[in-house]
Parts: sequence; C-alpha cells; structure tokens
Amino acid sequence: PDRRVDAGARRSRLVVLAGPTAVGKGTVAAEVRATHPEVWISVSATTRRARPGEVHGVHYWFVSDEEFDRMVDGGELLEWAIVHKAARYGTPRGPVEAALAAGRPAMLEIDLQGARQVRETMPEAMFVFLKPPSWEELVRRLVGRGTETEEERARRLETARDELAAEPEFDVTIVNHEVHAAAEQLVALMMVGDERPADG
Ligand code: 5GP
Repeated sequence: PDRRVDAGARRSRLVVLAGPTAVGKGTVAAEVRATHPEVWISVSATTRRARPGEVHGVHYWFVSDEEFDRMVDGGELLEWAIVHKAARYGTPRGPVEAALAAGRPAMLEIDLQGARQVRETMPEAMFVFLKPPSWEELVRRLVGRGTETEEERARRLETARDELAAEPEFDVTIVNHEVHAAAEQLVALMMVGDERPADG
C-alpha cells in the first residue's frame, strides 16, 4: 500500500475542535451533525451523569468509573482527561481509526488537555480553536445554559480563562458569532483535502 496517500488523506481529514468551556463547541458539533451527515463525529466516553435529553451512544457513552478504567488500561482511548475536576472524558480510538481508514472527514470535539494529547500522537490532524466573540459573551453563554450549579459555574469560568490563552497553539481560529456560520467554516476546513488534484 502507498503510505503517502494514506498520510495525505489523514492530514486533510481529521479535525480536532477545542476551545474554552461554554464557547459552543457542542452546539457547533450538533449543527455539523445535522447539516453534514457525511462528516463522522466522535462519540466520547464519560463518567459524568447524563443530562436530561442526552442519549447513550449519541451524545456520549455514559460509563462507570470501572468501565472507564478498563478502557484506559486496555489502551482503547486516543486521549482522555479529567475535565472541570468533575469527571473523566475520553475518545475511543477504534472508531476514529475506522472513520479515517474509510476516508471520511472526521471530527473530535474535546477539551484543551485532550487536544494537546492528540497533537502528540496525531500531529497531522488539523487543530481548530473555537473562540467566543468576547469574554462577556462567554460568561453570558455559561450563565444562560443553566445546567451548572453556582460552584460549577465559577470553576468553569476559571478554566475558561486559562483555556482562552491557548489559542496560539492551534492551526486555525474560528470565532463563534453564530452557530451555522461557525459550522460551515469548520466543514470547509475538513473538505480542503478534496480540492487537491487526484495526482497532486
Ligand atoms: P460537557 O460535560 O459539558 O458535555 O463537556 C465538558 C467538556 O468536556 C467540554 O469542554 C468538552 O469539549 C469536553 N469533552 C467532551 N468529550 C471529551 C473527550 O473525549 N475528551 C476530552 N479530553 N474532553 C472531552
């Protein structure tokens, strides 16, 4: 097999979306899922409890601590991290590899710690930083979501401040003014590889 072709396909197709808490990563990912079914989006495993409306296998794989330990020990996760000091989240490796092998544009929506791990193991991926229009807007979105307690909110804002400083580590920044526009910019980045001539 021609390994160069494989490397080229992977370089153009795996997009890692990260950014501060409450910037709207999940919403942008949901928009891509709804409007671009050709894009494969990773479903993470997490030890946190499902929120109302969240579906096992769709939004996350909701697993026990024991099951998460088993996945870590078995080398099943491409990356994993403790997010907001509250729960563990990780990307199952097998499905990502299968999507890339099938030539599908693929996307991970993960936190900054996870993005840094993926950069170590898959530096050929494209790392995209989703940024809020302003700090005030980020606070407004975090409060507006209403899914966290006061204490959790304070903790997440603290994390968000640090996370905003990581923008220069990324290949591309998308400002999330509006979810549909941000999703379209993201998909355009995934499709870049398709525009190259076949013999290029
Ligand atoms: P939430 O609990 O609000 O769904 O997600 C909290 C945070 O966990 C978000 O910043 C999200 O990007 C991150 N996250 C979700 N899945 C993963 C994952 O598989 N790995 C890592 N490192 N972070 C994740």
